[in-house]
Amino acid sequence: MAEQKRDYYEVLGVDKNADDAAIKKAYRVLAKKYHPDMNPGDKEAEKKFKEASEAYAVLSDPEKRKQYDQFGHAAFDGGAGGAGGFDFSGMDMGDIFGSFGDIFGDFFGGGRRSSSSNGPMKGANVRASVRITFEEAAFGCEKEIDLVLKDECKTCHGTGAKPGTSPETCSKCQGKGKVVYTQQSLFGMVQNVQTCPECNGSGKIVRDKCPDCRGTGYIASKKKIKVSIPAGIDNGQSVRIREKGEPGVNGGPRGDLLVEVVVSRHPILQRQGMDVYSTAPISFAQAALGGEVRITTIDGDVVYEVKPGTQTDTRIRLKGKGIPSLRNKAVRGDQYVTLVVQVPTGLNEAAKEALRQFDAETGNSLKTQNGAAGTKKKKGFMGKIKESFDDL
Ligand SMILES: [Zn+2]
Ligand SMILES: [Zn+2]
Repeated sequence: MAEQKRDYYEVLGVDKNADDAAIKKAYRVLAKKYHPDMNPGDKEAEKKFKEASEAYAVLSDPEKRKQYDQFGHAAFDGGAGGAGGFDFSGMDMGDIFGSFGDIFGDFFGGGRRSSSSNGPMKGANVRASVRITFEEAAFGCEKEIDLVLKDECKTCHGTGAKPGTSPETCSKCQGKGKVVYTQQSLFGMVQNVQTCPECNGSGKIVRDKCPDCRGTGYIASKKKIKVSIPAGIDNGQSVRIREKGEPGVNGGPRGDLLVEVVVSRHPILQRQGMDVYSTAPISFAQAALGGEVRITTIDGDVVYEVKPGTQTDTRIRLKGKGIPSLRNKAVRGDQYVTLVVQVPTGLNEAAKEALRQFDAETGNSLKTQNGAAGTKKKKGFMGKIKESFDDL
C-alpha cells in the first residue's frame, strides 16, 4: 500500500461520527454509481468502486473502525501477512461481490448472498428445548437450562494456532475461503463460488495447533442459561435468546439460542389456541335439580351453578378463563366445559329404593313420552338420512 490512500470517511463522504446506517447508505449510493456492471470497461469507475468497498469493509466493522480511527491506514498495513490486512489490490470483482453480498443482496435480487469467510459473520444458532407444565405455558415462567456452549479459546483468541505462531494463509484460495469457477452460460460468463476445500472456508491453515482447543479456536463448556418464557406460549413455539448461540467469526456477533417449549399434557384441560376445553362430571341429581359444581380452570377450581334440568353434554362457557394472549397477557381466551351427567353405579339398597320410588313417580310420564315419540327419539344419524329419503 505504497500509494497515498484517501481517508475512508472522505471516500464515503460521511462524517467521522456517522452511524452504521449512514455509512451503509453512503456506500450503497457509491457502489451503485461505480459498479462495474453499470460502467463496463471503465477502469476509473472500477477503482472508485474498490476504494469505496474497502472503506466500507473497514467502517462497517466496529472493531476495524475503532482500529482505523486510532491508527489510520497504518492499522491494516500490518507488515508481512499481517492478520486482518486489507489488500484489495489483488482481488477481483467476484471477491468484492462475495464480501458485500449483504449490501448487494437487494439490488441484485439476492443472487450473490454469500457472505465472505473473511468478513465478520454471525455465529450459528443453537437449538434447545425445555419442558414446562400447562399452567407455566399459560402464565409464563422462568427456567434455567444446562447447555454446552462454545467460547472463543482465550489461549489463541480463536485462531486455533499455538501461541507464538499464527495461521498461514491458505494457498489454494489465497485466504479468501472460497474458490471461484468461471463458466460460460447462455447469459454470458457466470461465476460459481464454492467454499475452499483446503481450509473449509476459513482462508487459513493452522500448522501448529493451539494445545488448549486442539486447533478449533473454541472451548466448549457447560453453562446455565436463564430462559424467560412468556405467558401464552404454546407447545412447539420457541423463545429466542439473542447472542447465546455459537460464537461469531472474525468479530461477528454470536448466533442466537432458540429454546423450544414442550408443554406437558394436563390431566383435565386441553388447549386450542387461546381457548381451553374440558369436561366436568355432574351427578344425575345435580343435573335434574340444579346446584353447584366445581370446575377445574387454570386459575384453580371455580364453582359453577348448574341449571335445573341440565342435559348431558351441555357445553358452558367460562368467559376469560382461557389462556392469556402472547401479545397482551391481559387478554384471555375462554374455557368451554362439557357437562357430562354420570349414571350412578354401585348403589346401596337405600339409594336403589329411592330410585325405584323416583321411577314410579316419573316413569309413567317418561314411558308415555317414549311411547309417543319412541321411534323418533331413537333415530340416530342413519335414521335422519332415511327420513330425508322418505320425504323425497
Ligand atoms: Zn486455542
Ligand atoms: Zn482455502
